[in-house]
Amino acid sequence: MGIGHGTTGVSIQNQIEVYHPYPTYTNETVYLHHHSYTIGLVLHELGHWIQWKWLGNDEIAAMLLGQRLLNESWANYVGWELCRAYYKSLGWREQFQDPTENVWDEIETPTPIGISYEARQNWQKTDRRKENGLYSPLFVDLRDGFNQRLNIGGDVYPDDVVNDLDYLIINELGKIANWPHFKQELRKYLSESDYNTFIADFDWWQAHH
Ligand SMILES: [Zn+2]
Repeated sequence: MGIGHGTTGVSIQNQIEVYHPYPTYTNETVYLHHHSYTIGLVLHELGHWIQWKWLGNDEIAAMLLGQRLLNESWANYVGWELCRAYYKSLGWREQFQDPTENVWDEIETPTPIGISYEARQNWQKTDRRKENGLYSPLFVDLRDGFNQRLNIGGDVYPDDVVNDLDYLIINELGKIANWPHFKQELRKYLSESDYNTFIADFDWWQAHH
């Protein structure tokens, strides 16, 4: 359940464990608002912990077998949202930089610039590696104002037509461990057109992996 580049962590009941095999990165300033790997990782794992508190052992265990898109995308969202809140509180000004700066290249070397790492703005529905695709912007895209399809361009990017869905609704969606149920609930809050456009790429991914 870690966030990559060899930095990994796991949220287990009452504890979060963080593993960092690349000490040269430890003091780097990278990713969302230039926060460190470790902060981002802990906040991501905190997201897993929240979901575990909501769902309990059995449902989380079942979720990890076939619904990890929901699981990891939720953790990304929590990490992203908490990082935004934290850095805004310090007076940082939020701005979109080039989201393509946050690509994972062929050897998975991180590009240490930009605010959109946990937001996964460079996520593509055709992501070749299943593991990468699990970390989608599904929940982030329900709140942020950045449409990857328009701003990066290309059919492989989500057409993010939804912004600013209420936090309370997103929290309810985060308690759902099943993809068909998730879609059913999301549909209640979006117009048919917005729903169909928004869900298409995530649905495609879920169906092809
Ligand atoms: Zn995770």
